[in-house]
Amino acid sequence: MQKRLAVEVRGIVQGVGFRPFVYRLANRLHLTGFVRNNEDGVYIEIQGNADRPGQFINDLQNQLPPLAQITELHSYSIVPNADSDFKIITSTRQKSAETLISPDIATCPECLEEMLIPADRRYHYPFINCTNCGPRFTIIDELPYDRKNTSMAVFRMCPDCDREYNDPADRRFHAQPNACPVCGPRLISVTPGQTAYGPSALSEAVHALNSGKIVAIKGLGGFHLAVDAVNNDAVTELRQRKHRFEKPLALMVPSVGVARRIVRICDAEERLLTSIHRPIVLVRRKDSTGISPQISLDNDYFGLMLPYTPLHTMLFELGAPEVLVMTSANISEEPICHHNEICLALMNGIADLFLMHDREICVRCDDSVVRNYEGETFFIRRARGYAPRPVILQDQGKNILAVGAQLKNTVTLTRQNYAFVSQHIGDLENLETLEVFEDTIRYLRELLEIRPVSIIHDLHPEYLSTKWALEQGELPSSGLQHHYAHVLSVLAEQGLKERVIGLALDGTGYGTDGLIWGGEMLLADVHRFDRYATFKPVPLPGGEKAILEPWRMGVACIHHYLDQDIALAEKLFPLYADKIPLILQMIEKGINTPLTTSCGRLFDGVSAILGLKSEVRYEGQAAILLESCAQQAGQRPSINEGTKFELEESDGTYRINAAPVIRNIVEGLRMGQDKTVLAYEFHRSLVGIFTDLIIRAREETGIEKVALSGGCFQNMLLLSILTAGLRDAGFKVYTNRQVPVNDGGISLGQAYWGMHNI
Ligand code: ZN
Ligand code: ZN
Ligand code: FE
Repeated sequence: MQKRLAVEVRGIVQGVGFRPFVYRLANRLHLTGFVRNNEDGVYIEIQGNADRPGQFINDLQNQLPPLAQITELHSYSIVPNADSDFKIITSTRQKSAETLISPDIATCPECLEEMLIPADRRYHYPFINCTNCGPRFTIIDELPYDRKNTSMAVFRMCPDCDREYNDPADRRFHAQPNACPVCGPRLISVTPGQTAYGPSALSEAVHALNSGKIVAIKGLGGFHLAVDAVNNDAVTELRQRKHRFEKPLALMVPSVGVARRIVRICDAEERLLTSIHRPIVLVRRKDSTGISPQISLDNDYFGLMLPYTPLHTMLFELGAPEVLVMTSANISEEPICHHNEICLALMNGIADLFLMHDREICVRCDDSVVRNYEGETFFIRRARGYAPRPVILQDQGKNILAVGAQLKNTVTLTRQNYAFVSQHIGDLENLETLEVFEDTIRYLRELLEIRPVSIIHDLHPEYLSTKWALEQGELPSSGLQHHYAHVLSVLAEQGLKERVIGLALDGTGYGTDGLIWGGEMLLADVHRFDRYATFKPVPLPGGEKAILEPWRMGVACIHHYLDQDIALAEKLFPLYADKIPLILQMIEKGINTPLTTSCGRLFDGVSAILGLKSEVRYEGQAAILLESCAQQAGQRPSINEGTKFELEESDGTYRINAAPVIRNIVEGLRMGQDKTVLAYEFHRSLVGIFTDLIIRAREETGIEKVALSGGCFQNMLLLSILTAGLRDAGFKVYTNRQVPVNDGGISLGQAYWGMHNI
């Protein structure tokens, strides 16, 4: 008996090889019918004997292509007809409502295998790809996603490639970047006075890497600078030429096997490393690995990734050093280079050799950075491999453009129940990055065909993103408080609208009172928030300058909490003895010294007092050292619960006074107590006060859901012991899972608020 089913599928089912997958599945089960895209997903009709259609529905959900995701599936019986085969009905111009763009995907196992078969026509061809892998987002110029609208347009497919492209049974059916050595992109290597092509370009690059040279390599979303990570001189040279002094450098290794030699890797971390997104994964390093000590100076982790393009694989295949530094090709904090000519010009004098090709990168996309937290992805930076995949929301709303914060900026555009969070854009502190910010907004708006009705921006009047939003005359805009946006980013991911207890701990965010906030416990729902608790404001001597000079925060803490003990400050910071009187004057007279409730700055101050770091190269560095120091305390019996913070109340908000905690740390130092124990106890103290406050809030309101966000929660010790304590006390604890807890998640929170309040 013939049975015919209509199947409506919603979710991420377009541009991810979904229809060819349906086609192959239908053929395997000997079903007739068709598949086509419709308004908001895919529509399928299948017909066959007995339980075959049921089997189809089952396999459809369980054997999805890597990037597809089904959020809704409805099937119902319809009248059978006389179809004799299964067809893919290609849509003409897709409507905006259905366009979703796939992120770039790491080379799949089939392509890797094929590339290493000597008889194959793509043997050692570094641009091999198929429907399941290869560049996507970074080669698209405009929609629909069709070869003529990508940077592959200039490569005319040869008859062999063309045949694959048009054969529904082929794994390269409609693979837009399909290419081979006859018709596709070609490698070129450039050194002063010498140019090589194809395989010779590759061997030149491998030779240069083995000789300790710095090689610029064109990747998916931009260029890397690569050197042999074992060669300390080469790594030192790279840091000097690039002016990147203390920030950790990412590594690439050919396999998990090689990774195991230098890091302690658990199953969850292995899953992240080998996932199709191929992010940089932070993994605890081993001692004495032979890797240059210059790679990761402040912490116990290496940022590690596996090859994600066939070109990377070929470098290792042809004998490149087994551990390569792979850092973005840029000058200090400027955007990553992504065009050949610009890279040649900007990296002149930095790279010794350029390994490039003639497939254009249409949009910059840095490597993503993640770590494992409780067995799942925890984002530090979300970009290549994930963007522009949307965060799927629980309900629909207006089209919103949210422009994010200043540092680690991202933007978000919403449409229906999708929030398209852009790739990491960077710190909006130079004109170049501001240009990328504007380009990204324009590009995503056009590509996703979203006409926003309103812009949401941060309250900080000096953020370039705020200024930009206010200049867009044709669109109304609203400002949203920074820490409320952090909490909302968690609500957005969880589909929550009701009131929760939100804890946003970070470095800096503009408060509704014009002060610098950063240690905020809020009662918040999707419409509004109340400030339940915060720190007592502390002076920030020199403002921004105090961020890069944590010793200033150390002095501020001593002055503020310990009765202005100048002798003590001078004893703790002898190197700055001559500057201390000036700092104290600034504090007392309030010259260039705003007040802050920042938790990040408290970490800085404690780190400085403990003598871990008095000047830093990037925000948060002192706090990273403090966490690292605390982690070394291990399970010492001498560790106690930590000194209790004092609690005061004013204007209906609890104020946390750090005086007893600072006093105890100074006292501990005086008595020669172990710094690692003091650092650990400081974490315990923080967890203690917030647990107390959160329990108090539950007693008053009955709320049992807690949302944790803000850059301080990149501190795994803080996040894990606070979460464990709250769960023990019966709370449901949420933190960011799809966007970073840092300011990279702000635009999602802003967008979520806009959807529900504009
Ligand atoms: Zn493939
Ligand atoms: Zn070809
Ligand atoms: Fe923040």
